Amino acid sequence: MKVLKIDHIGVAVNDLEESLKFYTEVLGLDCQGIEVVEEQKVKVAFLPCGDSEIELLESTTPDGPIAKFIEKNGGRGGIQHIALRVENLDAALEYLKEKGMQLIDEKPRYGAGGARIAFLHPKSTKGVLLEISER
Ligand code: ZN
Repeated sequence: MKVLKIDHIGVAVNDLEESLKFYTEVLGLDCQGIEVVEEQKVKVAFLPCGDSEIELLESTTPDGPIAKFIEKNGGRGGIQHIALRVENLDAALEYLKEKGMQLIDEKPRYGAGGARIAFLHPKSTKGVLLEISER
């Protein structure tokens, strides 16, 4: 398994439009468009930041994973996951399985921006929800 870089940092937010004002108007980052990923029940905005990106995630339903994260976090948004870009996602998942890691996704699924992604359970990563992505 070869990790190429931090692809993005996933930040859960209560209100995407409101949060975007901070990232674009105060930090001066550009929003590369907003996409709804039905499968994950999220509305997503990507903001390139040097060699990696910030991914803002707003839940589209009260029972989605982002809504649950915010609820557990006392109603506040915050860093929800870190995404590592790998050369070959299928090979990486095979390797992680062999190492006994607990995968949330046994098979790659569709991620925002056309990436192929899979999540690793925080139990296997010492506490961080880790997304592995390939573009
Ligand atoms: Zn992500």
